[in-house]
Amino acid sequence: MREPYNMVLKAWPEPNNQKLCLDFQGLLVSGVKPGRQVAKGQLLAKASLVRHSDTHSPVSGRLIKVLSQQVTIEAGPDSGGLPPSPLPLTGLFGFELAKALRSLGVPTPRPPGQGQPALLTALVSEPGLETGAALWNDQRTTLTAGADILARLWPETQLWEVLPRGLEPLGASRVIINSDRYPLTHPIFLKKSILGLYDPKASGVVEPRILWAMGFVARGGMPLTHLPVTIQRSHYLAPLGLRLSDALEGVNLSPQKGDAVVIGGLITGRPASNLSSGLGWSSPALHLIRARHLPPSPEPCRRCLRCRLACPLDLPIDLLGALSMDQWPKASISAPELLSGCPACGACALACPAARPLLAIVLSAQTLRQGF
Ligand code: SF4
Ligand code: SF4
Repeated sequence: MREPYNMVLKAWPEPNNQKLCLDFQGLLVSGVKPGRQVAKGQLLAKASLVRHSDTHSPVSGRLIKVLSQQVTIEAGPDSGGLPPSPLPLTGLFGFELAKALRSLGVPTPRPPGQGQPALLTALVSEPGLETGAALWNDQRTTLTAGADILARLWPETQLWEVLPRGLEPLGASRVIINSDRYPLTHPIFLKKSILGLYDPKASGVVEPRILWAMGFVARGGMPLTHLPVTIQRSHYLAPLGLRLSDALEGVNLSPQKGDAVVIGGLITGRPASNLSSGLGWSSPALHLIRARHLPPSPEPCRRCLRCRLACPLDLPIDLLGALSMDQWPKASISAPELLSGCPACGACALACPAARPLLAIVLSAQTLRQGF
């Protein structure tokens, strides 16, 4: 894996006559209709859930499609436009601050349990998700502003930084230098190794993208319009809602027949089914995998136990991996119990020399567990 040093973020060129596609969970505000003009920063939808954020237009332009959970905007030639009035965050704490952050487009992270510190981590949680380390290197002023916001959001909580060797701390009360590699850098395992607590929600582990977004809106009091994203091996501040096809084209990548586009990390990322969808919080990275580099077809299980040895929780994933794939639907029913606590980190699938699609069964176990 590449070391996370000397990484920089490049600003994405302002979209000009490009279409942005914003997914949101919430309620459209009145007047958001196809054909209407919108200004950069204009409120489009109000969040309906407490941890979600309001949605603003990242550019000035024209609404060309409005659905119940998605809007498409065509950026105008001058995509800057008139911004809305700033909302200063100075003097706000706790609940009031969380409300203001949400209204500026920043979701609030899960707070740690009572008496627990928050862990601000710059570790690379999985290959292909190096944006956080790039931010730590390159956007220190904004991250420091984000850490100040976090301290006011959770005034009773200590902030600890967990950094790989070579990265400068932001100034939290405690700094832990950690040389772990994936899967131990996964937020759940990180919290377990540092605090000795197994928390499937990894509450209080704060990724740098959120910290950056908090700092961004705190510095200007303006709604969030861009997000950090890794595309292939480079890091960008790209407009929210930038269509995946435009993002790839912008860095001169064109998928050919048989290639796959993966959204997220290289181990647990999901294949993009629709390149017209837009970049958002759930797409921290975009990778084009050429057909010749795609994993080979699964072979029969070799009973080598490498999957189990790779599992940080020592779960008996080998028992499921050894089954023939037509037995998997039935086996999925017992999987939630067998794989209790599994956060779908994907380390087992990565270790398997027979390319058994272990993540698929792990994910179906998770889905079943959530249904209980
Ligand atoms: S995904 Fe695999 S390696 Fe990770 S915890 Fe679950 S069973 Fe273990
Ligand atoms: S690593 Fe793969 S081949 Fe080896 S026991 Fe696990 S599922 Fe079977």
